Amino acid sequence: MTCGFSRPDGDLWIDGIPAAEIVAAVGTPAYIYSASAIRSQFADLGVALGAVLAEPPLIAYACKANSNLAVLRLLAGLGAGGDIVSGGELRRCLAAGMPAEKIVFSGVSKSDEEIELGIRHGIRQFNVESEYELGRIASLAKNAGQRANVALRFNPDVDAEAHHKTTTGRAEDKFGLLRSDVERLYAAASGNPNLGMRGLHVHIGSQITRVEHYRTSYERLADLARSLIRAGYPMDTIDLGGGLGIVYDAEKQSAPDLSTYGAIIAQTVGNLGVSLVVEPGRFIVGNAGALVSRMLYVKESGGRRFAVLDAGMNDLIRPALYDSWHGIVPVLPRQGEERPCDVVGPVCETGDTFAVQRTLPPLESGDLVAIMSAGAYGATMSSNYNTRPLPPEVLVDGDRFAIIRNRQDVQSLLDQDIIPDWL
Ligand SMILES: *Cc1c(COP(=O)(O)O)cnc(C)c1O
Repeated sequence: MTCGFSRPDGDLWIDGIPAAEIVAAVGTPAYIYSASAIRSQFADLGVALGAVLAEPPLIAYACKANSNLAVLRLLAGLGAGGDIVSGGELRRCLAAGMPAEKIVFSGVSKSDEEIELGIRHGIRQFNVESEYELGRIASLAKNAGQRANVALRFNPDVDAEAHHKTTTGRAEDKFGLLRSDVERLYAAASGNPNLGMRGLHVHIGSQITRVEHYRTSYERLADLARSLIRAGYPMDTIDLGGGLGIVYDAEKQSAPDLSTYGAIIAQTVGNLGVSLVVEPGRFIVGNAGALVSRMLYVKESGGRRFAVLDAGMNDLIRPALYDSWHGIVPVLPRQGEERPCDVVGPVCETGDTFAVQRTLPPLESGDLVAIMSAGAYGATMSSNYNTRPLPPEVLVDGDRFAIIRNRQDVQSLLDQDIIPDWL
């Protein structure tokens, strides 16, 4: 099992506590994260990159993977910065104690309010995706009587072979600026007193386990950076983006080779004489979390066996959205013949399916299951569809655990709605 998850006595434990004990206290479904797993991923990446680079890069954790304040506080304590894509995430990072000079603001659209918030707090840089955005940042910085630091997001026109919904580095994708646009805008922006040019940014996609996919984009990035530096433009930062994958299915995938990743970085952008930033999200938290759910009942229909959980696609949308595979394991072992089973949720959508024809022990209603590798893009993508309250989040650290987000209650959802008095 992955770091932080074990079966010392047959039962599933998360760090030093049996999962069944935690859900006895918090109910199901519940997201449970292992602090030791988060620390270990962060450390592994830092060590691998530190080993090959003169100056260790800033690890700006991509908050959208899991933006719970406790998770951000844990990472801030390890020295992480934050890669944010909204004003809301900026406020989360600041509330968690992340220093503004370690926060980079990415994303294909930023509102005036979000830009102003970033300027006011003096974030490390805006990763700019369009000419229009650059103009807005310059004029809002001018209004504020300040200088905003920016990097331009370069679209290297590579196909990272990520899922078609998470690949972002091809010329036809909506992300970033093509080389000729970067050159033109970099030149123009360098003369603007309200813009501090930090450098370049690239992010080619997500769940990349074959790190060779990074090489071409980093080569193209380095070539562009070199030509801008040679032309005399200021540059002190290269932001290499995120996308490092994790193992969801140990039979089909292997973890990204961090030493090769480090070597690729060192060989491509390692000698440009600039500071480096990386933006891992999933890699840090993905395998550190499970969604623990109770099986409501087992249903036989049309020759198929369905296990219906109390967790649904509103709690974890990845299988419905990306056809993604998650390991599903019983929390307490059950003896008996294993059988294929469709594991589904209660939401009124056929897409509310966690696994199709998965071989599982003979589970019975009331049994607990853990949907593994749900630490990234799980809780952050959850919704109230079907008026289902968001599940709680729990952080386990050694032999203690804490609820780090309460389960929503339905009344608070109803309280958001307003019936006009003319109805
Ligand atoms: C989403 C995102 C990341 C993180 O992606 P992961 O696949 O979770 O590592 C990093 N940088 C940017 C700009 C992003 O949009």
